[in-house]
Amino acid sequence: MTDLRPTDLLRKVPMFRELSDAELQQLGELCTEERFESGDDIVTIGDPGHALYIVLEGEVQVVYPARSSEYELARLGTGECFGEMALLNEMPRSATVRALEEVHTLTLEKSAFQEQLLRTPSVAVALLSTLSTRIRNADEQISGLSDKAMKDPLTGLLNRRAFNDRINEECDRTRRYGEPFSLILIDLDKFKSINDSFGHDIGDAILAWVGRLLSEHTRSADSAFRIGGEEFAVLCPSSAGQVTENAAERLVQVVANARPPVRFDLVVTMSAGFASAPMDGRRPDELFQVADRALLRAKADGRNRVCAPAEG
Ligand code: GH3
Ligand code: MG
Ligand code: MG
Repeated sequence: MTDLRPTDLLRKVPMFRELSDAELQQLGELCTEERFESGDDIVTIGDPGHALYIVLEGEVQVVYPARSSEYELARLGTGECFGEMALLNEMPRSATVRALEEVHTLTLEKSAFQEQLLRTPSVAVALLSTLSTRIRNADEQISGLSDKAMKDPLTGLLNRRAFNDRINEECDRTRRYGEPFSLILIDLDKFKSINDSFGHDIGDAILAWVGRLLSEHTRSADSAFRIGGEEFAVLCPSSAGQVTENAAERLVQVVANARPPVRFDLVVTMSAGFASAPMDGRRPDELFQVADRALLRAKADGRNRVCAPAEG
């Protein structure tokens, strides 16, 4: 390896693009070249960070270990760097970086990297740009993951976890600003017999269809959730009493009047109960209990109907 070689390699790296030949030469002298085999962990999550790596050849995978599996955050190739975060904030490595094939890197030790940053503003600027892209990508990935964590895959509605978050938020709003809101609880009627007669797959298709109807027929401010097997909830901000009852009636009628595409001959009905804050309760569990009692009355009174909270 000649003295010039690292300089030529460094010139290819966007972060060092603005450096003069002399500066590149100087930096090159501080770097070492390393080679890794496919499958090697170049950086391991939790380890102290001692160096910055620049990929010269080959591809690496940035992975974050979840409890039982690994999640790929990014793939990096020639001219891209990794390991700079841990050098900046004195924190342990935040992810593992693994060679996906034979990988050739330039490795710059922490102290040399920090000196270079202080000496050359263009390196600092290029580093900031790398970091901001990385943070933005991570933000998008995190919000994608949390969307997934909050959605019910069968119906596309928000799930029970999202429901718990949202009802707590609504209760906070009522407590702070006195703003009312309502909870509608819905349970499909005799759903077990639908499963028994037509099979579980048809049952699932009907659940997905009900989910679609609920999201299409709730007001834009309202949100529908699948909170259990064949149980749904709708949260209606700024709404109470008769207005909520009307909204629930409309949903019950929409489903009773429509026919599921998988079984056009089938009439699917559902029952609903509701409760409004603050008059029927101020805490999520109180409201849930009142709405659930109303729902049970709707079942007892013959199903395919809505019941309001009992007086007193
Ligand atoms: P009721 O009118 O009293 O609510 O009668 P029901 O049969 O709907 O009531 P129950 O709660 O006893 O039964 C609910 C049934 O819903 C049980 C189960 O077979 C079915 N179920 C629950 N989750 C799913 C699901 O994800 N897919 C399918 N296909 N069926 C489900
Ligand atoms: Mg049920
Ligand atoms: Mg049911």
